[in-house]
Amino acid sequence: MSKFQNYDFSGKKALIRVDFNVPIKDGQITDDTRMRAALPTIKKVLTDGGSVILMSHWGRPLKEIKKDPSKDFSNFTLKQIESHLSELLETEVLFATEPAGYEAQLKAAELQTGQILLLENLRFTQHEESGDKDFAEALSKLGDVYVNDAFGTAHRAHASTAVIAQFFKPEDRMFGLLMEAEINAANKVMNEAQSPFTAIIGGAKVSDKIMIIENLLNKATDIIIGGGMAYTFFKAQGGNIGGSLCEEDKLQLALDLLKKADEKGVNIHLPVDSIIADKFSNDAETSSANNMEIPEGWMGLDIGAEACEAFSKVVKESKTILWNGPMGVFEMEKFQNGTKTIAEAVVAATKSGAFSLVGGGDSVAAVNKFGYANDVSYVSTGGGAMLEFFEGKELPGIAAINN
Ligand code: AMP
Repeated sequence: MSKFQNYDFSGKKALIRVDFNVPIKDGQITDDTRMRAALPTIKKVLTDGGSVILMSHWGRPLKEIKKDPSKDFSNFTLKQIESHLSELLETEVLFATEPAGYEAQLKAAELQTGQILLLENLRFTQHEESGDKDFAEALSKLGDVYVNDAFGTAHRAHASTAVIAQFFKPEDRMFGLLMEAEINAANKVMNEAQSPFTAIIGGAKVSDKIMIIENLLNKATDIIIGGGMAYTFFKAQGGNIGGSLCEEDKLQLALDLLKKADEKGVNIHLPVDSIIADKFSNDAETSSANNMEIPEGWMGLDIGAEACEAFSKVVKESKTILWNGPMGVFEMEKFQNGTKTIAEAVVAATKSGAFSLVGGGDSVAAVNKFGYANDVSYVSTGGGAMLEFFEGKELPGIAAINN
């Protein structure tokens, strides 16, 4: 059992950093996954006989208002999630209108066993993102024990995600259940992968994924490269890619990555063919082409039939799978087939006993769109954090608890 599971919260005030940065449109929460993901941690504290103080950010109020001073500051209040949180927990949720001021101190001091206090958006002050030590200390005074359950912000050295941990004794600071699950899943892939280990890397830009590919060259047996980023590799090898996405300044880098993979004995799988379109639109004319010979006036927007078959075969033979980034413009129906086919291959491999982790915003969105979220081993809630973890970086939110 983990430290969190073993901890007796009875009579304690648990200060829990959650990630309640949920999408809200016209005052309505459109996806409450992140809130639901934090419930087991909150419930464990309450069941033990403790009380809970929740802190989170929502959006980037100071940055957005700087850009557009006419924006309404009150649109960023966490008050707007209070009633939904109360429904999910089936109990009243108290609210403090500032995260660490007098009201928060008073309400935290008076908090009774079984009660929940939600603090106002941490990013209403610049001290959160700047990692201000005094602000972190003021927050720390609200609770007896610190629980970090916000994997989505674990890659930030902010006051509430990292700096605060030093104000608690090592035995009184820990990860929550969600954070533990994320770290365990990521470790299983990064440090305990069974071979063959296939990383599927897609998405728009090579530049966003260089570090993760470089790090995976030391870990994976196979790397599948799909999506818009694949065309830079074809152009670098002398191919004609028409109007497909290309980062001209990354051509040499693409060749270097292929060379490094060769030296390390890692198989790089590039898509042989593409579904091409005459414009970036769901009502474009479409055809298929070899990726070395995409005609002028056409662009590759999805991997083609041969690539689907080849990639599926590699995925189905894998024992460990990491998937970050779609194979094409899956948001448009005409170009979703490649991403869907790969999702099906990941599901099939998982059924045969492979461990599969889907991480990173758009591949998670794709797996959800096709209804496969429950058919893979783990779907990460942390886009940027998961990416940095696989780039081999130490995440400040993790380090602050461990060190
Ligand atoms: P990323 O955030 O880098 O993982 O990129 C995800 C985005 O890449 C999605 O919105 C996809 O629509 C887009 N994408 C994937 N393949 C292509 C492609 N061949 N051409 C243009 N955009 C693409």
